[in-house]
Parts: sequence; C-alpha cells; structure tokens
Amino acid sequence: MSVIPRLRFAPSPTGLLHIGGARTALFNWLYARRHGGVFVLRIEDTDTRRSSEDLVAGILSGLRWLGIDWDEGPGVNGPHGPYFQSARLENYRVAVDQLVASGHAYFCFCQPEELKERREAAQAKHAGWMYDRACLHRSDKALAQLKSAGIPHAIRFKVPKGRTRFDDVVRGSIEVDNATIDDFVILRSDGRPTYHLSVVVDDVDMAITHVVRGDDHTSNTPKHVLLYEALNAPPPKFAHVPLIFGADRKRLSKRHGATSVAEFQHMGYLPDALVNFLALLGWSPGEDREMLTRDAMVQAFTLEGVSGGNAVFDQKKLDWFNSRHIELLQADEIIDKIQPLLEESRLWREEYASVGDSRTWLASIINLLKSRATVLPDFIEYGRPFLVDEVTYEPEAVKKRLLVVGLADHVAALREAYAALEEDRFDSSSLERVLRSIADSRSIKAGVLIHATRVAMTGTTVSPSLFEMVELMGRAKTTSRLKALEQFLAEQPPLDSLS
Ligand code: GLU
Repeated sequence: MSVIPRLRFAPSPTGLLHIGGARTALFNWLYARRHGGVFVLRIEDTDTRRSSEDLVAGILSGLRWLGIDWDEGPGVNGPHGPYFQSARLENYRVAVDQLVASGHAYFCFCQPEELKERREAAQAKHAGWMYDRACLHRSDKALAQLKSAGIPHAIRFKVPKGRTRFDDVVRGSIEVDNATIDDFVILRSDGRPTYHLSVVVDDVDMAITHVVRGDDHTSNTPKHVLLYEALNAPPPKFAHVPLIFGADRKRLSKRHGATSVAEFQHMGYLPDALVNFLALLGWSPGEDREMLTRDAMVQAFTLEGVSGGNAVFDQKKLDWFNSRHIELLQADEIIDKIQPLLEESRLWREEYASVGDSRTWLASIINLLKSRATVLPDFIEYGRPFLVDEVTYEPEAVKKRLLVVGLADHVAALREAYAALEEDRFDSSSLERVLRSIADSRSIKAGVLIHATRVAMTGTTVSPSLFEMVELMGRAKTTSRLKALEQFLAEQPPLDSLS
C-alpha cells in the first residue's frame, strides 16, 4: 500500500516571508503536487513575544500571491488541526509526560543564572560546555523537595549513549556521536515547548512523511531523530536544501537588498517568474531547462534533483526570468496587472477598462514595450509619454537639449516632413531617414534633431528607441508635440541674450 505523501511548510511568524522560506515552501508544495500528496501549512508561533498576527497575515498573503496553496492549515483547517502551535500546547504537554514516564526526559531545576555561572567557569578553562546533568543525578527526595517548594523547572531530554544516523535525500547519510549532543530542553519553565519538541510532536501528529527544509536545520535533525525514537514514531524522510547565498557567498540578508517576497511583489516581479527563479535555486530539472511553467515544474520535480551545493541569488537572472515571463503575458493580462500603478500615477482612464479603441491603443503600447520591460513599473515609466495629454519638459532636458540657435526652425521643418509622410509610411525606418535628411539639408548634426524630438515627445532626455516610439505615437500626436515644442522655443528669450 503506498502512503500518500504529506509535506509541510512550518514558518515561525517572527518576520516577513523571506525568499528562502518561500523556496522551502515551494519545494514542499512541488513535491506534494507531483505525487498527489497533501501540503500542510503550520504556523510555529510558540514564541509569542516575537510572533504577531500581522506577520502571520503577511506570510499567508505572500504564499497566496506566489500561488502556493495549502490543503490543510490556516483558513482551510483539516483533520490534524489546529495548525497554529500556540493552540497545540496541550499536545506538547502530553508528549512530555510520556517522555518523562518512559525515562526519556527529566526535570531540571537548574536556574538560568546557575547555568550561566557553570558555563562561564568551563569556558574560562577553555573547556566546551554541555549541560552537566546535575538534575539527572539528584536523588528522588531532593527532586521532590524542589518540586514542592515550587522552584521553576524545565524538562530536558535524556540523550542516550550511542550514535544517531539518518539518511538525508540531499546530503546523504549523516551520523553523529550522541556524546556531542546536549541534554536539550524540550519544555521551558514557563510551559512553552522548544522548537525541537514541538516540531517533532506536530510532524508525528500531522503524519508528515517528508520534511523538506533549509540546511540550517541539518544539525538539529539528530535531536529530532532521537525524539522520534523516544516517542516510538517512525521518522519521516529528511531533505535539507542548500541555503541561499548572495553573490559574495555570504548568507542572503538585508545587506544584499530585497529579501522578502512582499518586496519583490512591490517592485513589480511576477509570481510566476519568482516561482520559476526560486525553483531553480538549488534544484535542476535537467537538460538545462530554465523557463518552466508551474505545471512543467510539478511534472519534473524530484528531491533527488536538489543539489547539495550553495544556491546563489542572482538578481540579473531574476530580472531575466521576469522579462521572459512578461513576454509570455497577453497585453490584456498586463493591463490588468498595471492598472493600479496607472491609477497611482494618474494615467488610468475609465475607457481603458472596456473593449474599444482606447484599450486597443493601450494594448499596442504595451506590446511595443513588452520586450523592454523588466518589471511592471517599467510599463509606466516607458509608457508615460504615450499616455499623457501634454508633455512637460524637465528643466534639465531644456538646458541640455533645447538651447540651440535656430532649433525652432529645424523642428518646424521636421514637423512638416513628418506631416507629409503618408500614414502607411509612418514607420520607424522612414522616420529616421526623413530626420537624417532634414539634418543634412540644414547642415546640422542629426543628434540635434534626435535629442530635441525626444524632449518634444517625452519631456525627458531618455526614452526607449526614439523612432519606434514616434511610430507608435502616430502622426497626429507627433506633429502636435513638435508644434508644441516650436511654440515653447518661440516663447524663450533669444539665445544670444542669455548670459
Ligand atoms: N519554524 C521553523 C523555521 O521557521 C521550522 C523549521 C522546520 O521546518 O522544521 O525555521
């Protein structure tokens, strides 16, 4: 009988959804979807001081935005709930009682200050320190006295002698000498479980079959394996995936720039592009395949395809994926995505919302810009000149490009030539040829007219390829913008009177 795989993503809501976390969630999700399994979302919020509802909401919305849906967890519930650890404290207490009763755990009355003193004394002698089992060796009578005196106590796991081994799908076989493992605390004196206990108890209760998580948890896993054994529960398969590093080979952090899913969303990356990019951070579908739809990823995903080497976050690669995924979208889909940005920039018009000439015109602009856009706001920046009624000239652009003796005349000549072009010859190569021949006939450099036309069309000194833009702008709009420039130039003080 084959068991349905059950995987989980178990974030601690102490910060934003980091892209490392998103990648872990994605690998779990891909595996579950590949094998018709169940993907569980569990919120590890036992650290009540550092967790907050807002952070939980942020994690949920980040996952939803990425299209990583969960079969059990917050909002959908399921047979193994609740899915917030803060609501499962009783389960941990029961497990601890079981571990104490079976001799796998013991009470520890050592107070933090005493432990600190002993640790420091050992460190002063340059000796490594592990819990010295002071409480394991106390007599039953002494323990009973401490207990009845109401001294706060933690519960520690009694690490057995021997060695602990597990097979990691990514890292291979891992074995440690138990002598290197501290008798770790499983229940704190305030009744809260530690991560080691709660994660194992929940993974057992939730029947998790595969634990896929960051490599930073590899060193915790021997403790978890010991807990599984002590609880008489079969351990799941473990797969520890490489952490994500920056280009400087240091662990990805704020210093490297954006690291949270929300930031990438805000910057105008597409969820499909981010998912494609994240999937390939540490995993390879083989055959150098890179551009993958979600379905293709699900079809191809294997844990064996996850490499043990470091995954390096490459912003340029993400940009490449985003451009490619933008190109895959229909103009209509892009319009829907950029509508809020257009509204924010006051460039949105009601008539764009429904089928008609205006929307078609907007779609043709989007199609022109599609191959140039890296992120969604690029459509706003490059599209602005097309969408505004009137262009205002940036003072810098005026100073740099418009203070040329006789410019108004040259521009008028260009406007007339453009007006004389037949509508079906109003294409970028004709536009360029006409401009160059006007410049020649007037013995000026083509650059003078090119720069002035760019300011006329956009108000700035930068634009996507000028002639393509002019082509799309159309004859009427182009000639009226050139005319506006002539007027502007006529209103300026004569150049020779400028000091
Ligand atoms: N709450 C832990 C974390 O966010 C979960 C680790 C695990 O998957 O076991 O790192």
